[in-house]
Amino acid sequence: MTAIAETRKFEAEVAQVLHLVTHSLYSHKEIFLRELISNASDACDKLRFESIGQPELLSGDAELHVDVSWDPDQRTVTVRDNGVGMSRDEIVANLGTIASSGTRRFLEAMSAEQKGDARLIGQFGVGFYSAFVVADKVTVLSRRAGLSAAEGVKWESDGKGEYSLEQFELPERGTAIVLHLKADEDAFLKRWELRSLITRYSDHVAFSIRMPLEKDGKPSEEWETVNAASALWTKPKNEISDEEYQSFYKSLGHDFNDALTWTHNRVEGSQSYITLLYLPAQPPFELMMGGRDERKGLKLYIKRVFIMDAAETLLPNYLRFVRGVVDADDLPLNVSREILQQNRQLERIKAACVKRVLDLIEKLAKDEPEKFHTFYQAFGNTLKEGIAEDHANRERIAKLLRFASTKGEGSARNVSLDDYIGRMPVSQDTIWYITADSHAAAAGSPQLEAFKAKDIEVLLMSDRIDEWMLGSLNEYAGKKLRNVAKGELPLDEEAKKQQEEASKAAEPLLNKLKELLGDRVGDVKVSARLTDSPSCLALSDYEMAPHLARLLREAGHDMPTSKPTLEINPQHALLKRVEAESDAGKAKDLANLLLEQAEIAAGAPLPDPAAFVQRLNRVLLG
Ligand code: ADP
Ligand code: MG
Repeated sequence: MTAIAETRKFEAEVAQVLHLVTHSLYSHKEIFLRELISNASDACDKLRFESIGQPELLSGDAELHVDVSWDPDQRTVTVRDNGVGMSRDEIVANLGTIASSGTRRFLEAMSAEQKGDARLIGQFGVGFYSAFVVADKVTVLSRRAGLSAAEGVKWESDGKGEYSLEQFELPERGTAIVLHLKADEDAFLKRWELRSLITRYSDHVAFSIRMPLEKDGKPSEEWETVNAASALWTKPKNEISDEEYQSFYKSLGHDFNDALTWTHNRVEGSQSYITLLYLPAQPPFELMMGGRDERKGLKLYIKRVFIMDAAETLLPNYLRFVRGVVDADDLPLNVSREILQQNRQLERIKAACVKRVLDLIEKLAKDEPEKFHTFYQAFGNTLKEGIAEDHANRERIAKLLRFASTKGEGSARNVSLDDYIGRMPVSQDTIWYITADSHAAAAGSPQLEAFKAKDIEVLLMSDRIDEWMLGSLNEYAGKKLRNVAKGELPLDEEAKKQQEEASKAAEPLLNKLKELLGDRVGDVKVSARLTDSPSCLALSDYEMAPHLARLLREAGHDMPTSKPTLEINPQHALLKRVEAESDAGKAKDLANLLLEQAEIAAGAPLPDPAAFVQRLNRVLLG
């Protein structure tokens, strides 16, 4: 016989979460109800799924539901379900320890956030603990479906570090969560308050949520269903209002903002399925924290039965911000996860989901530019991953990208590749861009000068992912994409002749610089890129931009170092000065400063900053 009653400590991280929850989550406390109902509904989903193979689990009580009740005398609110329930071991594992990495990310996010907003809690798989935002004691009574009445469990805690556990006779399967409200939380003892919260947050839970009718301020024996209790996605589009779509989104995505837009489709034929896919307006915390594991947000149903969170199976990584439901009619209900992972039908549904989402974003870009802008601010950089990840849709994704540009408005990212192509002269066959650490560094780069002089538009890219993405985007709509800082610029016959003549004329200067700079440079050349600045760096076609190489090196990657090629503008007064300078020391200072300013402009690290400063001061005083 195991111990009948015992007291245990919460795992350290659970205790930390509880501390945060009870001490810093003040706004939107009401979220606890949504979280407990969501858990109750999950428990019903799980039982329905298990009962496919073991129908006896539903015995005598086949209608799954969630009951919400209140007791003004005891000052309790109770959420009860007749779902799958928990055994003693499951209670310990689910409520006392960390099942997912969500808790850790929650702690990180909350410490980053400072001000506590309880609405965040559901996004991290720590929803149960929101009970302690309003309750100073929580009692959980649970009996696992399939176990006997004697194997019920009572779990109780004040959320301060310990919980008690005892065996507890329970006549029915399922779970009841009893909240003993804190002294100042009486608002939740009112039926209309609870009911309006259910309507606001849980209307689209697919099971009935029932409440007792009220008599003399107290719950009566009579119960009514208070939510819509239908699988919204199964209804025809024209019978669903925007409000219904939005409130379904909120309960589905644990989001408290409206969705930006959605696409709802029913496919019939050799394979029948329904997809309802949403674009959120803001990145959920998970995404901002860089959490790429355990993706949630896309639920797979088979014939209305919830099977699993299937975001990994049904959406590529670069669309991980999409939320929604897929309900397939033709899959066997008892499929295992392993089988689902490589199921051909799901492969097809996945391709359809990708197409729907890209259609949706395209439509947004075309018809609702402001919403598209909101979307792009939030998820543009995530979408860019698709350029490398999804070859088949590369052109479609590239079409959706927006950049800052020398012909755009300031740093606003609102120029598409099509805009660029539409403006370029017929003689131009290349889409030019520059990458840098920041918009200012890109916009101010000396490498742009020749392009400005010739009125050629250049896209200004300064998001970290850009350089990496461009590795997979060499062409768009038959036009090459090229970095203005890399390789030889294509020159017309006349310019080529000029360039050759200038190089020849500058030969003594080039040789002088090579000698003065010694090891620090691979080569020194006359630039075709510069009009105003004295110098810049030039990269070979396959070299990585210096700012990115620096980032990677700082992140601990072993990056090959190659000596830079310095390009100069012999017309510039500084180069005239180098040419004329007879003092070897002074000439050396000037030459090094020409190289160093080119390195700074390109975001490359200075190999010896102190020496640079001394040189600069000598020249300033000189
Ligand atoms: P999440 O729902 O994201 O898993 P929660 O903190 O809300 O995180 O719940 C933790 C776990 O506790 C659930 O995954 C589930 O296993 C268990 N649980 C909570 N409430 C119930 C319930 N009413 N019935 C059965 N299991 C539950
Ligand atoms: Mg939950």
